[in-house]
Amino acid sequence: MTPKNRTKLADRVTKTAETALAAQHYVAPVDVLVGIGWLDGGTVKRWRQGQIDYLERVVQTNLSRISEAMKMFRSWATSKGLYPSETAYVARTPQRHTLRFSKSGNPTIERLYRTHWVSPELSERKRERLTEKVNRPPELVVIDPHNREWTCHRCGGGGDLLIMEKPGPACLQCVGLADLVFLPVGDALLTRRVKAKSARFAVVVRFSKSRRRYERRGLLIEAHALTEVERALNAEAPGSAAVSDREPKRTSMKRGSVHGEP
Ligand SMILES: [Zn+2]
Repeated sequence: MTPKNRTKLADRVTKTAETALAAQHYVAPVDVLVGIGWLDGGTVKRWRQGQIDYLERVVQTNLSRISEAMKMFRSWATSKGLYPSETAYVARTPQRHTLRFSKSGNPTIERLYRTHWVSPELSERKRERLTEKVNRPPELVVIDPHNREWTCHRCGGGGDLLIMEKPGPACLQCVGLADLVFLPVGDALLTRRVKAKSARFAVVVRFSKSRRRYERRGLLIEAHALTEVERALNAEAPGSAAVSDREPKRTSMKRGSVHGEP
C-alpha cells in the first residue's frame, strides 16, 4: 500500500468508526468493514445465520488490507480512550455455534474481531447493559404455519411447527428443538424469567392474514426452565390464581405434537 493510499484508508476507517460510535455508543470491527464498503449488510446477515463458514472469505479485499484497516481501527479506538469489550458472536442456528471471522481461525485474531470498543462517556451501568444486550444470543424463529401440508427438507416428515432453513422448511426433530415446550404469550414476567433460564429457546410466530404480518404466539423453551420458574413464582405468591391458571394453557400445544402427528 502506498503512503497516500494508507492515509486514505485511515480516513475512511476513522470516519466510519466515528459515525458508528455516535449512533450506537460502541464500534465493532464488523461495523468498520461494512462502513468502508468491504462488506454488505446482507452478507453479514447470512454469516450470522451460519451460512458462510468464515467472514474474511466474503470481505471484498485481501487479508493484508483487512489487517491494515483493523490495526488503524484499534489505534483510533485506543487513542479515543474507548473500552475494549469482548463480545460473543453466536450463529442464529439451533446449534448456536460460535461464529468464525478469520481464514486462519487463529484465537488472537478471532478475539480482536470479537472485541467491541465502547464509549467512555457511558456510565458503568449503561456500559454493563450494553454489554449484556450485544452478548444476548440471537432469537430463533419457529413458524406455526397455516398450511400443515409441508415437508421437512431433511427427513421428509412434517409437523405442527417448522423452522425455515436455506433449502426449505425443517421439522423441529431434525433441527434438535423437538424437546422444547410451548409457552404462549400473555405473561410477561413468566416469559422473561423462563427465557433467562432456558439455554435454548425459539420464538413461535404465525402469519396473521388480516394484519399481513407475522405475530408472536409464544416461546419454545426448555421444560426444566418452565418448571423451575413456576415453582419459584409459586413460592413467591403461594396459591396465586395467576400462577395456577397457567397450567392448562401451555398444554394446548404439546411437545409431542410438533413432529409427525396431525
Ligand atoms: Zn425432519
